[in-house]
Amino acid sequence: MQDFGASRVRKLFERARKLAPCIVFIDEIDAIGSRRTSNSGAETENNQTLNQLLVEMDGFSSEETIIVLAATNRPEMLDKALLRPGRFDRRITIPTPDLKGRLDILKIHSKDKKLAEDVNLESIAEDTAGFTGAELENILNEAAIIATKNKHEDIENMDIEEAVKKVTVGLEKRERKYSEKDKRLTAYHEAGHAVVSRYLPTQTNVKEISIIPRGVAGGYTMYKSDEDKYYISKTEMEEKLIALLGGRAAEKLVINDISTGASNDIEVATGIARDMVTKYGMSDKLGPIDFQGKEPYEMQMFGENIGDKIGAEVKELIDTAYNRAIELLKEHRDKLDLIAQELLKNEKINEEQFEKFFE
Ligand code: ZN
Repeated sequence: MQDFGASRVRKLFERARKLAPCIVFIDEIDAIGSRRTSNSGAETENNQTLNQLLVEMDGFSSEETIIVLAATNRPEMLDKALLRPGRFDRRITIPTPDLKGRLDILKIHSKDKKLAEDVNLESIAEDTAGFTGAELENILNEAAIIATKNKHEDIENMDIEEAVKKVTVGLEKRERKYSEKDKRLTAYHEAGHAVVSRYLPTQTNVKEISIIPRGVAGGYTMYKSDEDKYYISKTEMEEKLIALLGGRAAEKLVINDISTGASNDIEVATGIARDMVTKYGMSDKLGPIDFQGKEPYEMQMFGENIGDKIGAEVKELIDTAYNRAIELLKEHRDKLDLIAQELLKNEKINEEQFEKFFE
């Protein structure tokens, strides 16, 4: 879509008029339809393409039966002019598939693959809430590769479980060398996530904790996926932040030093906190206002220092969550130590073993 210039748009619609009735489908429309800018240079070519698209869409007469469809993952980036009546004026949101949808997708992509008797697609569908169709397809393809490596005649359940982990946290790297110090840090980091989330009512159960390096991660804590839901409450998001910062909090509390191992947690937590304030209107101070993707002049109407205020609210959410994680770990230090020790000994803890610590 790089060279989707104005002339290509003109030609596309010329062809469509000849072929009508027809459907014009533009994938990833944000590549050409993102908000116009006043900058010069490369941006202006993009602007010309977009202008041409607007002209073409306005030029339809009522006798012409051309339907223009477009897809994007970033509707908030689109130029407002594109969304006016007569242009892209209807929106169909395609959410990630629900349980039944995932099961159907898994069935389609496993049709031409040999699955062993023990494979239960229902349970895989249950474990993959939030996955897109493409990710589910990827899991089955990975499972086939893993099955070959494992010299299995058919794809077995363990191959699929391994594929789910590979897609979510990366490949297991048992050969990676790891100092005792790093190992201890990772054990406490992961135990920190697990213990903190165990005491947060909205967080799902821990499914597996591991300190065997995988992908770029030194270890991981996997949670059971939740039943499908479309809304997430503020409390749930706040508790998610606490769980995410539990790793860093444990490092600080036990080792009194912090590592780079928490960088992904911090990235995810910051994103959630920012969305809470700027997208979901969950800040009491700033109120239910959408601040995302606004131009500087649009932001000005909220006051001179609105950027500072947003930043302060995001920081407040993160600080509160981090402090809560520290408190929870201090309160349950015994569990934190026990679980970290178990990880140092056996490298992995499954759901049952984890729950035993809390009986
Ligand atoms: Zn972590």
